[in-house]
Amino acid sequence: LAKNIIEAMKFIEANDVKFIRLQFCDLFGQNRNIAITAMQIERALANGIPFDASLVVGFSESRYTDLILHPDISTMQLLPWRPQQGKVARILCDIRYPNGDIFEADSRYILKETIKRARDLGYQFNTSAECEFYLFKQDENGDPTTIPTDQAGYFDLAPYDRGENTRREICLTLEDMGFEIESSRHEAGRGQHEIDFKHDDALSAADKIMTFKTVVKTVAQRNGVHASFLPKPLMEEPGSGMHIHVSLLKNGQDIFENRDGVLSTEAKYFMAGVLAHVKGMTAIANPLVNSYKRLTGGKEAPRHIGWGFGNRSPLIRIPLEADEYYRFELRGPDPTCNPYLTFAIILAAGLEGIDKQLVLMDELKLDEEEITRDPMAVQNIQELPITLMEALTEMDADPLIKNVLGENLAAKYIELKTAEWMDYIKTVHPWEIERYLLTY
Ligand code: GLN
Ligand code: MG
Ligand code: MG
Ligand code: MG
Repeated sequence: LAKNIIEAMKFIEANDVKFIRLQFCDLFGQNRNIAITAMQIERALANGIPFDASLVVGFSESRYTDLILHPDISTMQLLPWRPQQGKVARILCDIRYPNGDIFEADSRYILKETIKRARDLGYQFNTSAECEFYLFKQDENGDPTTIPTDQAGYFDLAPYDRGENTRREICLTLEDMGFEIESSRHEAGRGQHEIDFKHDDALSAADKIMTFKTVVKTVAQRNGVHASFLPKPLMEEPGSGMHIHVSLLKNGQDIFENRDGVLSTEAKYFMAGVLAHVKGMTAIANPLVNSYKRLTGGKEAPRHIGWGFGNRSPLIRIPLEADEYYRFELRGPDPTCNPYLTFAIILAAGLEGIDKQLVLMDELKLDEEEITRDPMAVQNIQELPITLMEALTEMDADPLIKNVLGENLAAKYIELKTAEWMDYIKTVHPWEIERYLLTY
């Protein structure tokens, strides 16, 4: 602790830090934070900072309403967009009960525990995520609209691509925060973008996704536009996914190493495990009512359950070329998910596949359009849940997912999300009026 305090003080002094944001992630994957002045850091590190958990999504079932934030000093970073003088730093926090016990519903802790379990079995779990998002115009009050900032498409350049400057500033800010940006580009939708950063151990990767979303939204705001990670903001345009690249090492050996389309036995077990739990996993990886408009709306989003090599459209794609490392790409998740829980479930499902030696289904050679056109295929190929409620029912029936989250947290998640679904389902939507009013 003393070493931590000295380290923190040095950082604060060297960088003229005046405020520190103590951050954590709620059940639904939103960043939460409490600011303290830099002078409080010693107290924060020694005793933690208490907060009222009763209003934090997913935390209210805790034994106490007071929980304590314990800064994880290894995550201390400057927020580069803040003023040059009197800078602001952020630290991600572990959460404990007042008596020192770990708060078991903290999603970052849940991922750490799952990673530890994998490590005990000899596995190193690395991930990366391709986050897609839209840039929308703001109205005269600075509120978001759904008008894209440009009419450009895939790989377009300025001047069609009007998001270029914002995107570049996002990339530079992320680099200031230690990201290695591999590529950034205009995506297929009008006003849609994608920025990819280097893979990392799964905990750091999840931390980075959280940071990424904050940076994208903040920099966009500073440029007078609204960044949105909503999975399907515009019906006629592609949705925004968060494809997850999964790699697994055992004793430094790439489990997903493949030559000429031949996968290792362990790779097949792992993928079979993920596919066996992918329906229930969808409730976590695609957590909004709106998520399912992307999954059923075509435009390169996966709907059916399967895997394949190369550049087709299956739920799990195995890139043909290794690039720097071998991996598979899970294309279902979207950027509104809680990345800690999503990674934890992918890992636990894969490990179960290895443990139970689950048999991997045959490679799916049809793409989404071919499946829909082929009556036999439609009958034989399973699909992801098509609504949030269906996904929640699948999750409720999946003991592995409940075990990863813990029974209480899983029950809380299902309860809160079911309420969200009921709220949606009892709402009369414009579509219903348009479709029915004249006829009925
Ligand atoms: N936007 C697509 C999705 O929803 C992905 C497009 C792509 O990156 N090829 O998943
Ligand atoms: Mg991509
Ligand atoms: Mg993309
Ligand atoms: Mg991809």
